[in-house]
Order: sequence, then structure tokens, then C-alpha cells
Amino acid sequence: MSIDSLTALIRTIPDFPKPGIMFRDVTTLLADGPGFAELVDRLVNVARPLDVDLIVGIEARGFILGAALAHALGKGFVPVRKKGKLPGKVVGIDYVLEYGTDRLELHEGQVPQGARVILVDDLIATGGTALAAAQLLREQGASVLMALFAVDLPDLGGKTALEADGVASQALIV
Ligand code: 5GP
Repeated sequence: MSIDSLTALIRTIPDFPKPGIMFRDVTTLLADGPGFAELVDRLVNVARPLDVDLIVGIEARGFILGAALAHALGKGFVPVRKKGKLPGKVVGIDYVLEYGTDRLELHEGQVPQGARVILVDDLIATGGTALAAAQLLREQGASVLMALFAVDLPDLGGKTALEADGVASQALIV
């Protein structure tokens, strides 16, 4: 299946979550069997050569793609979640949103010092979320080999922001 066919499976919903935002809804792609398989296969092709120890997925859609990728590679999966969701002892990082701040958390000790990780999310927009997650992983002593996304919205500058911070990234659909 071509990238164009994958792209066609993503729908755009205007004015979500607020007026003026064109939300790329990947659930239509996930719901398509051949499309989902192709998407995961393509993520695997990017990740396999990298000698990765762990896949880290960002809440919530990063869990879906990250878990599928981890399974295909036979590697572990670690979730990065929004504040207050993880039951064990956590380490966290605050980051700035357009309005206000938010916090990402990780179970303490789940990403060992020196681990080679790939960070996964469905989409990169401004890059703020992935940047915060990468910083949190680095604070744990991990090496972030790459941030990997299904979709990049390049006009919002996320890839450039990650690069400026030394985080390599790749997206399948730009
Ligand atoms: P950023 O921090 O790069 O500005 O925003 C990316 C985060 O917000 C990701 O966790 C992503 O899931 C979510 N996000 C922002 N805009 C969209 C969108 O249009 N579609 C989807 N599926 N997720 C989005």
C-alpha cells in the first residue's frame, strides 16, 4: 500500500478540540486492517536497523503504535503518561502548552540508565510533547535514538524544534 493510500485513510475533523483547529484523526486509519498493518510495517522498517532496547509510547495514540512496534521487534514497551495516571512511583517533567502547562510522567526505573529507546507518537505538531518526553528520557540516562511518528504537520515546526534539541525524528506521512 502506498503512502498516499495511508494518507487517504486519515480524516480531518475541523474545529476539534477547539474552533480553528483541523484535527487529523488517525482512528480511521487504525480501523482499517490493511492500512494499520502497512503503517506498523513501515514503522518497523524504520526502527529495526537501530538496535533499540525499548519502545516508549506517548499517551494516548502513541500507546497503540508503540505497542505494535514493540511487539514486532520483540522489545519492551514503556508508557509516558499524563499527570496522575501511573500507579507506581513516577518521575515527571512539566512542559508549556499554548495555554498553561502540562506534565508527563514515567514509572521510575522503567527506563534503565543507558537504554537505547525510540519514542513513538501518532503525530507531531509543535513538537512540545515529544520534546518534553525526550528530555524526561534523557534525565533517566537513556539515549533517544529517534522520535518516530505516523504523521508530521511540518508547518508547525515540530521536527525542527526536535532537531534543535538534538533529537532525530522521522514521520511516515508529511
Ligand atoms: P505537539 O506537542 O507536537 O504540538 O502536539 C502533538 C501531540 O498532540 C501528540 O501527542 C498528538 O497525539 C496530539 N495532537 C495534536 N494535534 C493533533 C492532531 O491533529 N491529530 C492527532 N491525532 N493528534 C494530535
